[in-house]
Amino acid sequence: MTTPSLDPDDVAPAVADLDTIVSLSKRRGFVFPSSEIYGGINAVWDYGPLGVELKNNVKRAWWKAMVQERDDIVGLDAGILMHPQVWVTSGHVAEFSDPMVECQTDHKRFRVDELPGAEDLGPSELLDPGIIERLGLRCPADGGPLSPPRQFNLMLKTHLGPVEEAAAVVYLRPETAQGIYVNFKNVQATSRKKLPFGIAQVGKAFRNEISPGNFVFRMREFEQMEMQYFVRPDLASAAFDDWLPRRRAWYERYGVTPSRLRFREHRPDELAHYAKKAVDVEYRFPFGWKELEGIHNRGDFDLGNHARASGENLQYFDPATEEHFIPWIVETAAGADRAAFTFLIDAYREEEVRGEKRVVLGLHPVIAPYTVAVLPLLKKRPEIVSLAHRLRDDLARHVMAVYDDTAAIGKLYRRQDEIGTPWCVTVDVESLEDGAVTIRDRDAMTQERIPVEGVLRAILDRLDAARP
Ligand code: ATP
Repeated sequence: MTTPSLDPDDVAPAVADLDTIVSLSKRRGFVFPSSEIYGGINAVWDYGPLGVELKNNVKRAWWKAMVQERDDIVGLDAGILMHPQVWVTSGHVAEFSDPMVECQTDHKRFRVDELPGAEDLGPSELLDPGIIERLGLRCPADGGPLSPPRQFNLMLKTHLGPVEEAAAVVYLRPETAQGIYVNFKNVQATSRKKLPFGIAQVGKAFRNEISPGNFVFRMREFEQMEMQYFVRPDLASAAFDDWLPRRRAWYERYGVTPSRLRFREHRPDELAHYAKKAVDVEYRFPFGWKELEGIHNRGDFDLGNHARASGENLQYFDPATEEHFIPWIVETAAGADRAAFTFLIDAYREEEVRGEKRVVLGLHPVIAPYTVAVLPLLKKRPEIVSLAHRLRDDLARHVMAVYDDTAAIGKLYRRQDEIGTPWCVTVDVESLEDGAVTIRDRDAMTQERIPVEGVLRAILDRLDAARP
């Protein structure tokens, strides 16, 4: 008998072995290694036909909660390339680095805080030249000796224009947030928003991560979903406290098991250079509790520094109090890939049905790649096939609907279960006579017979009922 753990954080992951998810993703077309026919490129992944639907649904769900439903938040889509001075002012050129060591024998490089035995070190210890020797740290790959730590800047560079000279160097943005700060004035003036208000953005970011890995958890090219909330300085702390439960609730609303989510506050010595306070929403991944999203009170760091460096007046005028001041910023910084990955992992379950194993992705219907699959019971009967096609075409004007006739019905159901399709509609011989079809529910596996003309309404009603 195992003794129950007293540690409240000792929660089992949804999937014990990450390989289960990696192989499902490859097999069913969620995620492929980038440039695979050339042997792949480290830490870049491509989303296949199902993955792109999943990730788009995640981004749409975020946008709905953060922009569409909020009277006080507007959207933005800024360029990936920005004036290089932005990254000097933001502190990224000087500070956006991780302590790194190199193995003297196999020349592999590692982030110091990811070496076994160094996970809990503070920032100054991570850069202490004697730390490797003192803790007896060795290369995790071949056990070889490691170099002393040094700072490694994570920004990727490229050249803008036809001349590859130092003056033409620009950075691929390592976060989307700076595009929001430098547009603060434009957005505020054109949207006429009064404090408190927010600007939200979804887009690619690039980091030359030292130790990428764990599938799409840590990539070198990824997508962020960030929202910057501008507030009066005296209200920043309350706004921060307000965003914490909201952001956690968003993951729960779309199906993440509450006990696999937790908050973790950054220690003072761990805070990023811009942060006054930071709390991560963490998820219990198969490889441990890890950050899913960061919520940061950034004070006036960003607008203050950009105002000083650019010479622009980035103050806000409060007509109620007739005060001019630099707004403070509360940021919610999430990753679209990490969120999609989390929904995928948390939805995975294996069940036994009538002595057979069934793999189900219990994805929320709004997040699932396909809302409905239309399946003909007999593909040899042209009338059945054409009715099924007509039905799919009709449904596809409203939701993602797929037709499949490449196997027997039992197998077709299992395939849709495995990719998380909440409803299957089956057209059979009787449908030709009674004009009715069967709707099958992924989770309950119940089947209901309804008239063909009622299918669209039935699917939309079910989707509405599931909508958070
Ligand atoms: P970490 O400590 O894991 O390196 P971070 O604290 O640097 O992350 P932030 O700068 O706060 O991360 O970025 C906000 C969000 O962007 C993260 O919570 C994560 O969801 C996502 N993100 C950051 N880096 C990566 C990456 N390399 N691959 C995928 N997603 C990422």
